[in-house]
Amino acid sequence: MATTIIEPGFIQPPSIEPPFLRQPNGIVLFGERSRRLMALAQGHAMADFLRFMGMLAEAQQRAMESQGVPILPEAGQIELCKTHGIPPLNTQAMQRDASWREGLNIILEQVAGRANTATQAAIARIQALSDADMESFADRVLSGDYAGLYLAAAPLIGAALQVYWVRLATSLDLDGFTRPDVHTLCPVCGSLPTASVVRIGGVEQGLRYLHCSLCESEWNMVRIKCSHCESTKGIAYYNIEGDDGAVKAETCDECNSYLKILYMEKNMEVDPIADDLASLALDILMDEAGYLRSGPNLLLFPGMQDA
Ligand SMILES: [Zn+2]
Ligand SMILES: [Zn+2]
Repeated sequence: MATTIIEPGFIQPPSIEPPFLRQPNGIVLFGERSRRLMALAQGHAMADFLRFMGMLAEAQQRAMESQGVPILPEAGQIELCKTHGIPPLNTQAMQRDASWREGLNIILEQVAGRANTATQAAIARIQALSDADMESFADRVLSGDYAGLYLAAAPLIGAALQVYWVRLATSLDLDGFTRPDVHTLCPVCGSLPTASVVRIGGVEQGLRYLHCSLCESEWNMVRIKCSHCESTKGIAYYNIEGDDGAVKAETCDECNSYLKILYMEKNMEVDPIADDLASLALDILMDEAGYLRSGPNLLLFPGMQDA
């Protein structure tokens, strides 16, 4: 083992630890996603779908820009959660304030003029919902209870919930967050990840972060480990033959699940939500191979494509 002898007078540089938690950048997040989706749409078999999603992300950005800080849980409560590794913005425990519905209205107004007939109908149906029905629709989206849900409206509700939780997550002070015992759920809001990203640059070089499906925070998890059951055995990687290798499916033979993993070294522009939507062919492949997807994408719901 090598020993470093520190000479007297030598000032040791502060060791910079990579963050275990990364906060979303609300100023650019949805705008960059929109541009990524528009780029992915070029020459893609599902170009119209991706362009619509790009437009939806642009509407999310508009909502982000026009809304302020939402009502956060009480400061003492947040601190208590942080020190005990409990997500302070937990979807089940937290009372949503009505501003998420104002965000939804902004999104619907933006999208309405450019939506196809099916989406126009979904918008009209959402606008006709009572506040109570809108809240229970949101509850079902958040808890993954999709059976019998009006799927055409679900991505619009999901988009508004993302904006609301990103507003919350970007208002939090990350200082004092302890790493929770459970690594498979978002430390900020307790939701499942949509995908994970192997990052490049600085102290984060080569590190893998899981990307929250709701508040878009990212938390570190070592590589070659199942993001669902945390097994390190039976992990394998699949991608579509002939692609750039930036998006793979990480499968686990212990729990029979998969989640996509994105590699920034293959493509710096990758975005967990956008690149997930653009790689549905990989989901079909994994489904055929008998693996179950472990995390949702709130802009795409199972069965939506067939509706
Ligand atoms: Zn989260
Ligand atoms: Zn597993």
